[in-house]
Amino acid sequence: MRIVVTGGAGFIGSEYVRRRLTADPAARTTVLDKLTYSGTEANLAPVAAHPGYTFVHGDICDPEVVDQVMEGQDAVVHFAAESHVDRSIDGAGPFVRTNVLGTQILLDAARRHRVGRFLHVSTDEVYGSIAKGSWTEESPPAPNSPYSASKAGSDLLALAYHRTHGLDVVVTRCSNNYGPHQFPEKVVPLFITNLLDGKPVPLYGDGRNVRDWLHVSDHCRGIDLVLHGGRAGEVYHIGGGTELSNRRLTGLLLDAFGAGWDRVAHVADRKGHDLRYSLDDGKIREQLGYAPQVPFADGLAATIAWYREHRSWWEPLKERAGLR
Ligand code: NAD
Repeated sequence: MRIVVTGGAGFIGSEYVRRRLTADPAARTTVLDKLTYSGTEANLAPVAAHPGYTFVHGDICDPEVVDQVMEGQDAVVHFAAESHVDRSIDGAGPFVRTNVLGTQILLDAARRHRVGRFLHVSTDEVYGSIAKGSWTEESPPAPNSPYSASKAGSDLLALAYHRTHGLDVVVTRCSNNYGPHQFPEKVVPLFITNLLDGKPVPLYGDGRNVRDWLHVSDHCRGIDLVLHGGRAGEVYHIGGGTELSNRRLTGLLLDAFGAGWDRVAHVADRKGHDLRYSLDDGKIREQLGYAPQVPFADGLAATIAWYREHRSWWEPLKERAGLR
């Protein structure tokens, strides 16, 4: 199977490509990535010599590049996106451009080239916030941030291409990912790297916002299950099964470093901060046999160890982004 992975130099996309190429010497994978601030080819170094690997430095909003890349492909796994909520609050333009326009350009090219399957990677954030219970795949989208609104736009557009044009689309909506290679602006790697640097960690508001945590390797296994076994036109949740308040997460990270709450800097809450996300992932468990395999404590310890051992990866990224 020949596949295109958009955003394959980013956090989740690179995990997906590394897994796929490491597992299968015959796999063929083309990465299309613009290498924005959050993408780096260093994430793909372990598989760069694989004979089935091709890297294309390009923008999903560029129809010519997309057209060339799509030629002869069997499937697209679409990760490329502007992905950080705080940046979308500062300016929504790049989010609408990449997440909505870019997805439309990919969908049109996939149709023209009769690509067999288009897997769109979406997020639980498209649903907004839920005080109690969990969302099912039938829950209506009600996004609150410019990021989640742009993701909802692309997610619904992908489903519309199935309904309208018969394109074989599947959509995955997952919870918060953590693991190695995550750009150190997101809470887990930001806090870990600040703690490694002896700096304070900035906790939003009162820290009672709740997220479900999913190890990136479990997410990528879920994506593969949907890619190969999902039904066209359907949505699949991929959950991690570990709901934590930001305060509890902060406590676990402080404990791992033997640090106290004096290391926490309380900062003004994020505008429009969603209180809680919670996915019911019974469908993928029952229909495709998915279950997360990485216990949160093990995954977090391994992630901390990875950042401890890979300063040369994150220090320049943080410097460039003005986070250090
Ligand atoms: P990331 O920011 O680490 O990676 C995004 C990648 O996309 C980067 O390599 C970047 O260079 C590339 N990219 C951005 N704009 C592009 C463009 N116009 N053309 C080509 N490439 C472009 O993000 P991530 O955390 O790996 O997220 C991947 C996907 O998963 C996104 O669609 C995101 O919305 C979704 N998602 C992420 C999480 C999470 O917790 N990280 C949770 C739910 C869903």
